[in-house]
Amino acid sequence: MSTIKDKLYRELELKIATSVEGISFDPRIFRNLDITGKYQEEVHCVFEYDHEHHVGIHFPAGFLSPHGLTFPIKWDRRSQYSFILENDVYYLTYKGVVIFPIEFLDRPEYYAEKTSDGTPMNTLAVYTRNGAILTAYSNECAFREKGRDCKFCNINATKQAYGEAEGIGWKYPHQIGETVAAAYRLDGARHFTLTGGFVAERREVEYYLDVADSIREHTGLDDFNGTAVIGAPHDLSVIEKYKEAGFRTIATNIEIWDKHLFRAICPGKAIESGGWGHWVKTLEHEVAVFGRGKVRSNIVAGIEPKESTLEGVEYLASKGVLCLVTSWNPNPGSAFEGHRAPEPEWHIDLFRKVAGIFRRNGYTWDELYDCSPTPESPINDIYRIEEETLPVFNRQVQPLAAV
Ligand code: SF4
Repeated sequence: MSTIKDKLYRELELKIATSVEGISFDPRIFRNLDITGKYQEEVHCVFEYDHEHHVGIHFPAGFLSPHGLTFPIKWDRRSQYSFILENDVYYLTYKGVVIFPIEFLDRPEYYAEKTSDGTPMNTLAVYTRNGAILTAYSNECAFREKGRDCKFCNINATKQAYGEAEGIGWKYPHQIGETVAAAYRLDGARHFTLTGGFVAERREVEYYLDVADSIREHTGLDDFNGTAVIGAPHDLSVIEKYKEAGFRTIATNIEIWDKHLFRAICPGKAIESGGWGHWVKTLEHEVAVFGRGKVRSNIVAGIEPKESTLEGVEYLASKGVLCLVTSWNPNPGSAFEGHRAPEPEWHIDLFRKVAGIFRRNGYTWDELYDCSPTPESPINDIYRIEEETLPVFNRQVQPLAAV
């Protein structure tokens, strides 16, 4: 008989597979689902992860598997995975065979609130689950102007498609402070990530300081457990200021570890922001300021060979940086639209190896949580499965033959 851990790993493999392959469905299947009421909706605050646009049609943000893993929904009409609805129960299926019933994610309470200037809070910060919220202060990237945006990125296309339709644009510090306070108060949120595309003037420091002031004022917390996601600054001495402002952690996303591919895939970061060596130096300097385990990076996994990604994760882990990996999703509107990511098994193996590197280097769940923009990623899941901290370890679940 398989253990809960075995079942969770099987569900995790499905989570990664459905994330890579997408899930097929006719959007009308959600006709009677209370999206934006009982259930959390997708909000296109920065990227579209579905494999085609669906402007004006709400999708649920994700769903829970029987043992409590959070699955994202990435719509792809070519996928062999699909949703079906029978007797008011939604099921995940593969080639038409039921895998398990699913539960969509509850909508957080702050999504129904508005700021003092009348802006809906669901357009200001996305609930990324398990007490974490994320704000993209700018939903465009200035690298686009010279054709130097990252090849996998669709931030500008997403803004063009959804910005007006969903009321998403530039955010002001007071709006963010009020929204973070509401999420912390109403939904027990306890981690905040501030990110965004490059802005031409590079006035990030002043802006991030204003946001931190506003959050402290509205939450009453000196340490609000925030992660400042920044591009590598030309002057590394500004990194101190983020710490002084009250951010607990900092992140700088290198995206690609191979320096030659970095230049080709991320031309803006390479040409206008110091180049690969400067991004690595920035991460090392961030550790000197914030401390080991309080700095995060990210690699978009599946563009370069796995060995190169693992070399980067291993190197950065040895330097005090948690370098997450996210499965490359050839987003609509990116230069890679229509490409294919590696097979799900490729990603499953990578996530296991990355989690192994973190654990071997002694990084704790708390350190991982405090710097994760989405604390329900496969790496986070592996930590919670291995440490048996998922709620399922404290409750009885009916065995499901198909899982
Ligand atoms: S720097 Fe690259 S990944 Fe970041 S927003 Fe700009 S184009 Fe996208």
